[in-house]
Amino acid sequence: MRFIADAMLGRLARWLRLLGFDTLYYPDITDQRLLKLARQEERFILTRDSHFQRKDIETCLFINSDDIDRQVFQVITDLHLRLPDKSRCANCNGVLETVKKKEIADSVPEYVYLNFTHFQRCQGCGNVYWEGSHYQRLRQKVQEFLKHSARSEN
Ligand SMILES: [Zn+2]
Repeated sequence: MRFIADAMLGRLARWLRLLGFDTLYYPDITDQRLLKLARQEERFILTRDSHFQRKDIETCLFINSDDIDRQVFQVITDLHLRLPDKSRCANCNGVLETVKKKEIADSVPEYVYLNFTHFQRCQGCGNVYWEGSHYQRLRQKVQEFLKHSARSEN
């Protein structure tokens, strides 16, 4: 499932990308353009804006909370999603690929190079991510949440 987030959901868009969901986000997008893109690219609309709800669009999820954790969990549970295998870049939505440590030696701070072993690089903008960084903790948190919610359904 692919998404497009409205202008109020920039943080959610970044988190969904890190979790691996293909998510478009433009801070200055007009409603008209957002609807057009959603239709053209068959993307599910994520919105905090109740007037999208009133338009009665089927492929639209109204996000209830301002809290980022609740927002992420709402998207995943309401739409019954599973985490994709590959993460995406928080900045540009590009797919992250695993790279050898020596390939990124010039792209990360020295302490990161010395202290971490596993690295991924964005195929879009070249941004480098490493194990132990923000996105890995986020992924673990969501996996924990999914485990617990699966348990409570049984
Ligand atoms: Zn990128």
